[in-house]
Amino acid sequence: MLYTQFFIPTLKETPSDAEVISHQLMMRAGMIRKIAAGIYTYMPLGLRVIRKFEKIVREEMNLAGAIELLMPAVQPSELWIESRRWAQYGKELLRFKDRKDNEFCMGPTHEEVITDIVRREIKSYRQLPINFYQIQTKFRDEIRPRFGLMRGREFIMKDAYSFDTDSAASDTSYNSMYNAYTRIFERCGLDFRAVEADTGSIGGSTSHEFMVLASSGEDAIVSCNSCRYAANVEKAEGTKGQQERAGHLPLARIHTPNKKTIAEVADFLGINQSDTIKTLLLSNGEGQYVMALVRGDHELNELKLKNHLGWDDIQMASDEEILRFTGSPPGFLGPIGLKENLPVVIDYMVESCSNMVTGANETDQHYTGVDAGRDFQVSMIADIRIVGEGDACPRCQNGRLEIWRGIEVGHVFKLGTKYSNSMKATYLDKDGNEQIIFMGCYGIGIGRTVAASIEQNHDENGIIWPLPLAPFHCSVVALNAQKDQAVMEAAERIHNQLEAAGVEALLDDRDERPGVKFKDHDLIGIPLRIVVGSKNIVENKVEFKLRYNGETHLITPQQAIEEVISRVKTASGGTR
Ligand code: ATP
Ligand code: MG
Repeated sequence: MLYTQFFIPTLKETPSDAEVISHQLMMRAGMIRKIAAGIYTYMPLGLRVIRKFEKIVREEMNLAGAIELLMPAVQPSELWIESRRWAQYGKELLRFKDRKDNEFCMGPTHEEVITDIVRREIKSYRQLPINFYQIQTKFRDEIRPRFGLMRGREFIMKDAYSFDTDSAASDTSYNSMYNAYTRIFERCGLDFRAVEADTGSIGGSTSHEFMVLASSGEDAIVSCNSCRYAANVEKAEGTKGQQERAGHLPLARIHTPNKKTIAEVADFLGINQSDTIKTLLLSNGEGQYVMALVRGDHELNELKLKNHLGWDDIQMASDEEILRFTGSPPGFLGPIGLKENLPVVIDYMVESCSNMVTGANETDQHYTGVDAGRDFQVSMIADIRIVGEGDACPRCQNGRLEIWRGIEVGHVFKLGTKYSNSMKATYLDKDGNEQIIFMGCYGIGIGRTVAASIEQNHDENGIIWPLPLAPFHCSVVALNAQKDQAVMEAAERIHNQLEAAGVEALLDDRDERPGVKFKDHDLIGIPLRIVVGSKNIVENKVEFKLRYNGETHLITPQQAIEEVISRVKTASGGTR
């Protein structure tokens, strides 16, 4: 490919609305252009990378036995009403009407459509298992689209759906997708973890998220430093612990003038925050309330509490609600002496504590010497805290939890019979009895993975593509190309030989200064580079350079060509 016949509109300035490095570099490298919030054009260079990743995804999906199809982006409301998600989905679902007043949505995901296909087409156990996938444009009206392709509103997803005769068979399909995902992200050279994830309202089922480790990641994840346990912090399990405490002192009420926060109270009393209890009042928005207690140095995990209670929603109580239940303004909340009966849920760690400090439900008053169970009634003991760095591993004896930030690039999910039940997707078993189909669903964000790769592979000069994702494998930079015929001829020969060998080469034949060319090639991140210059070519030498470490060798054009071909060959199974 000749640079002058391609289109790479690089930018010198970083666009002001690009917060994360991948967004900045994709804009500057001319890979994407924004047309509205969260909606982008994939420019030619960006599209090449997208296609590269899609090819890896296709290969691994096909190898795992999934069958490609392509479903429509526009979906009729009837299917969503059947699955009950038309009412549940909220504003992320972009809905509209056609000229006959029929309601539709832009598909944010395709469980409904695929289940409809399967219930029509699959009749017998002989047709199962089956797994369909597509690579297709989704639309989600995200409340805060940002970070370029990472959280767009229109984005490309690979989504697969497995259909099995029973739960055990569905587990096999799930494992096969889990393994395929592992291979996909390994082939891209990404540093990632597969973590246990919350299954949300579906409950009971299993789910793993594939997280690319990056400081800009929106998710916090934990992993054990000793065993394989890894989980999204939303889901990560806290353990029961022993707190060493000095005996059981009697309950005492003390004056704590203007001390409202845990830190202020602990400071005032000269104790550790872990010697206090944090009390929170929460509601499900429909008239149900609980009081939740975690240790003062811990944070409540609202999602775990919500799941534990089986609520659909959870929210912090308002100041008025706190006043109603406790008779006190916020800041002095505690479990002792409530005005109305409330279930009190305490975290595992609070159970093992004694002689603690809590609010006394009165302005400027706290209790010391508080023991759960002795001084107030406990309704439930549950794992409801956010786990922290250094916490004990819930799976192994000696491990400690480490915390990372991650970008969720893939999600595998056991759905059970949620959709097949509501939409009546059944099959006839060996004996001719009608049975419900078991489902799984599996997503990969195509653009998000490309962005995540940049988050992990860049330097101050630009992107550093791993070979399997690179838009071109090798650039051939011809210096003074317009003035020196020998340079241009040599560069063309190298470029043509590379292309003939199946290498994707980009020949920079522009009439630009060397500095401009080098800057652009650094920015767009082509992994391998051959520089052809007047002085060297006279001696039959070119410069061969690796983008990722800057290593440079002066070798013959033939040696350079062989080096490139061999690296591209090895990388089709690996990374660099
Ligand atoms: P998130 O929690 O980040 O919103 P999600 O749980 O809604 O993700 P899924 O419904 O599991 O995501 O979608 C499958 C995959 O699609 C995700 O793992 C992610 O890679 C990608 N994805 C989801 N939302 C977006 C988005 N707004 N922009 C780009 N990719 C997305
Ligand atoms: Mg989402």
